[in-house]
Amino acid sequence: MVAVIVMKFGGTSVGSAGSIREAVGIVNASQSRAPFVVVSALSGVTDLLLASASKALDRSFSAKEVVRAVEEKHRSVIQNLGLGAGIISEELAELEQVIFGISLIKELTPRTTDYVASFGELMSAKIVAAYARKIGLNAMAFNACDLGMVTDSNFGNAEILPTTYQAIAAAAGNIPLGVVPVVTGFIGKNVNGEVTTLGRGGSDYSAAIFGAALGAEEIQVWTDVDGVMTADPGIVPNARTVDVVSFEEASELAYFGAKVLHPKTILPALDKNIPVRVLNTFNPSGKGTLILKSVMRKEHVTAITSKSDIYVININSARMLLAFGFLHQVFKLFDEFRMPVDMIATSEVNVTVTVERKFDISGLVEKLREFAAVTVLSDRASVSIVGNGIRSTPGLGSKIFSIFGRLGINVEMTTQSYDAVTETLVIKEGRLKEAVRALHDEFFGAQAVQAPVTAAAAKIKSDRLRA
Ligand code: ADP
Ligand code: ASP
Ligand code: MG
Repeated sequence: MVAVIVMKFGGTSVGSAGSIREAVGIVNASQSRAPFVVVSALSGVTDLLLASASKALDRSFSAKEVVRAVEEKHRSVIQNLGLGAGIISEELAELEQVIFGISLIKELTPRTTDYVASFGELMSAKIVAAYARKIGLNAMAFNACDLGMVTDSNFGNAEILPTTYQAIAAAAGNIPLGVVPVVTGFIGKNVNGEVTTLGRGGSDYSAAIFGAALGAEEIQVWTDVDGVMTADPGIVPNARTVDVVSFEEASELAYFGAKVLHPKTILPALDKNIPVRVLNTFNPSGKGTLILKSVMRKEHVTAITSKSDIYVININSARMLLAFGFLHQVFKLFDEFRMPVDMIATSEVNVTVTVERKFDISGLVEKLREFAAVTVLSDRASVSIVGNGIRSTPGLGSKIFSIFGRLGINVEMTTQSYDAVTETLVIKEGRLKEAVRALHDEFFGAQAVQAPVTAAAAKIKSDRLRA
């Protein structure tokens, strides 16, 4: 098989006629490297589709009215690109039927929600492929479901099956040589053929899965910023692009809130050791960020990231002191409720965990209260300091804590596991931006000196670790 490069274009990169022209121009310039293109829905469309599905439950609107905003957005882009008005007619008609079905039976299941959400990527793949053909590329739109993207049935956050890589390689083998595939990100199907989605922002993950399955020489994630930055540029306007990051750092950054990559993106790339490059569609000559297996650099800290909208769940059971099984009992329930835990801190009778606020924790908390005292804090956020150097830099912890001390921000929970590249702290949500900016100033500001910290600071850190 010819080595391919996977090129994933996110929502803003295909969000308007102008961006689609940029994106297709970039693909055109990479023709000699056998591009395999993966696209997200036009920006804002997945949100619109999800809102339409909910709106369908309210019978005061007709199905036509419900899908109008989605239709108008696509039609205007199609018109601006000078494409035939009919290229997404089938998808729009089917979407309208599904919306009508939801309003008829007044029921919206996770399965139907995924089905509705999938139309965003289906339509964007059609539009991007049609425009690419218009400028002379031999492009063809594909539904990932027809290219072997098979998942479990965890609608809304599906996981691929172990056989998926083989299925993709086999299906892609049938694509005629010279064709530039434009494939839907975000979606797959279960073994019954029902449409599933890989979770919000999941097109990055789709691209990495395709890259690993096809043995790509590179996975390119084209987005609206210059690469992975030292902080979210929405919070820190003077954040800088990081040239190179390791797979481990990138995965921690994504996991702890850097939206630029979906947290699962790194795993397939790591498995096959395929470099991932994050690039800016609107500045294609920029270097971007290269993500590699191992990276040597002199800086201790690579980036600051943060996650708002988290719950802190504190589970206390004094009755369990010196008894076995408390942790088992707690985490068995998290397992039963399929509740992903972000951070954990434990003592003999106490477990504190954080969970994203998008999850409904009410059933879990009720069960936990059968054997423990449970407190839930909901206006909390986490701030993470990520860098390969963290594991080997004495005194970093005290530096971080002194910043929080100076700002008068109370750190309510902290985790840094053995040999980890991330230190994470939980604080009140209202202080989040201030904390991120102060940490960024400290480690990346003009005054930032990433030199070894003093022996005194090192002692504080080791005391803290022993405490
Ligand atoms: P796409 O639609 O291309 O997938 P996303 O909106 O999902 O793009 O991700 C890109 C956005 O991630 C950027 O516009 C930026 O606001 C945000 N972001 C958050 N943290 C970081 C970071 N550390 N580096 C770069 N971008 C970040
Ligand atoms: N369109 C999907 C979303 O908005 C997937 C993606 O953009 O990666 O979540
Ligand atoms: Mg994204």
